[in-house]
Amino acid sequence: MKHHLYIEMDNCIGCRSCLAACTQCGGHEERNRNYVYDVDPLVSRQTIPLMCLHCVNPACARSCPAQAIQITDEGVVLSALVEKCIGCQNCTLACPYGIPKFDQEQNLMYKCDLCYDRTKEGIPPMCASVCPTNTLQWLTDEQLAAKQSRHALGQWTASEPYNPLEGMTNVKISLPGILQGKQKLF
Ligand code: SF4
Ligand code: SF4
Repeated sequence: MKHHLYIEMDNCIGCRSCLAACTQCGGHEERNRNYVYDVDPLVSRQTIPLMCLHCVNPACARSCPAQAIQITDEGVVLSALVEKCIGCQNCTLACPYGIPKFDQEQNLMYKCDLCYDRTKEGIPPMCASVCPTNTLQWLTDEQLAAKQSRHALGQWTASEPYNPLEGMTNVKISLPGILQGKQKLF
């Protein structure tokens, strides 16, 4: 990718503009494909966005028996192809982050495709284009490298029993301060 979605988690104020923008995307049928969570509401007001991280070796695509989940040359993990998806829901179980969702009526999985119609042209995805706090940033290789010198990026570790699914992601994140040292979100 020439550009990367980068998530500066500490900045999130929970406004959910990213959800609203995703809901309005063409073809989304007014359903958001990204999510915002409270990290630990009893001790903090910190919220974090949860987007598809577009894993380098995605569990969803690996678990699909129908090759319905395509990966672009840029590393974007696309929503299921209508003509191929058989509705088995393997992908919804395999993803450690709960990103693929299942539409019962259409018998079809849907997920974030990083606004591929925009991002393949270098235009930021809708979520990043509206985030008012720079939590969601659309960075060039050089800009990302500058971030990388300050943060350990690209690793997202799920808690037990999912540790075997730890892996490299195309979307890069910096964990919020409240989680640093724990590296576990779920
Ligand atoms: S738009 Fe930005 S600040 Fe608002 S909830 Fe989404 S990531 Fe957080
Ligand atoms: S629900 Fe569709 S996309 Fe998901 S694993 Fe099954 S066939 Fe593949």
